[in-house]
Amino acid sequence: MNTATFKGGLNLPGYKENTERLAIVPASIPELVYLPLVQHIGAPCSPLVKIGDQVKKGEKIAAGQGFVTAPIHASVSGKIKAIEKMGHPGGNFVTSIIIENDGREEWAATVKPRAHPGDLSGEEIRKIVWEAGIVGLGGAAFPTHVKYAPVEGKKADYIILNGAECEPYLTADHRLMLEQAERIITGLRYILKATDCQQGIIAVEENKLDVIKHLQEILINDKQIRVQPLRVKYPQGSEKHLIYACTQREVPVGGLPLDVGVIVNNVGTAFAVAQAVEEGKPLIERVVTVNGTGIKKPANYLVRIGTLFSHLIEESGGYQGETEKIIAGGLMMGKTVFTADIPVVKGTSGIVVLAHTAGTVKKETSCVRCAKCIEACPLFLEPTTLVRLAKRGFWEQAEKNNVLSCIECGSCAYVCPAHIPLVQYIQRAKQAIALAKKGGGKKK
Ligand code: SF4
Ligand code: SF4
Repeated sequence: MNTATFKGGLNLPGYKENTERLAIVPASIPELVYLPLVQHIGAPCSPLVKIGDQVKKGEKIAAGQGFVTAPIHASVSGKIKAIEKMGHPGGNFVTSIIIENDGREEWAATVKPRAHPGDLSGEEIRKIVWEAGIVGLGGAAFPTHVKYAPVEGKKADYIILNGAECEPYLTADHRLMLEQAERIITGLRYILKATDCQQGIIAVEENKLDVIKHLQEILINDKQIRVQPLRVKYPQGSEKHLIYACTQREVPVGGLPLDVGVIVNNVGTAFAVAQAVEEGKPLIERVVTVNGTGIKKPANYLVRIGTLFSHLIEESGGYQGETEKIIAGGLMMGKTVFTADIPVVKGTSGIVVLAHTAGTVKKETSCVRCAKCIEACPLFLEPTTLVRLAKRGFWEQAEKNNVLSCIECGSCAYVCPAHIPLVQYIQRAKQAIALAKKGGGKKK
């Protein structure tokens, strides 16, 4: 197989065998759903409803100001029970709309199939994607319509659908590509139209041979879309590395994929686009993998946005052994959360629960100058230097050493024999630099 890849990277154990062959099943719909007003990058939403209002499934209940934002829709029909702050997978507290599910599953009148979706213009498709509240479902949660908006002097030569799913334990994209291949391809055709682009690529790691074969069979005579098998390597799904692997184009430091003529979307995003364009369905559910050594029955679920992690963990038979950590997202780039009473949001691709095993809690020791972190970094940074600067608060020096290019992939911390939480120090430096740029802090 003619596989593509990038320079560097790590060979990680996949830990996907528990769920990669399990079909997506609908999770039970909870009695209460919790919809945070921030589920995307950009302007937060404000409620369009008040306590006591009756809402229908798919009804728009919150929207933000400006262009870089994404509206939020009711994921169940029922009554608005509360609008209050609660825990969010991002680690903070966010005002959330809580809906008491009436069990009727009544759709809003706005949700109905479109008679002639093929006749829509690119601009009309972009508007539908915005109105449907679609964001990047790979975890970044960037509003999708913003990626599609025309930019003067720039043109997309390729739309790449990211089906790499290089994070250990996650199989949501794998299953979606296998079970909904036609809809994903349909979504990609609408994206091509919305962006006035001629070439589509669906990029899949070669450990998902069933998906590659299935897609290639469907696309056998297609001149516009091709399947690009990728080497199994971490972080193959990172936007910059994916673009390089598929096109040999390098996104400059501080640049965007469109600077090199590329737009990247997750495969789940393309599926959501097809549903929005053809069925008028907003983003109210997504596929979530629940997996890890600390879970009794790992599974791939179709989940209503706003379902609590604890609900899904219970649905998966509950915890197994003593829980060491719960991660929102993947093992490497996901965020450790301190409670399972937080909701699935649009960007939640997985819930990984790790059980405590003897010796798993590693104590940080001094750097032994082995340079393993430098060898592992897919961006050719010097993580050990960045951490030294971050520990001393030398933010300006850290910036000169390209700390802002770090994609927080965790490869450096994974290989570090001294168990230094390199990513945490790097994040601290990035936050301090961002604050200083806003005028809220001092650069040393
Ligand atoms: S420095 Fe950043 S990009 Fe490089 S390995 Fe560490 S986390 Fe990944
Ligand atoms: S891998 Fe860890 S111990 Fe080795 S140089 Fe990097 S920070 Fe130091």
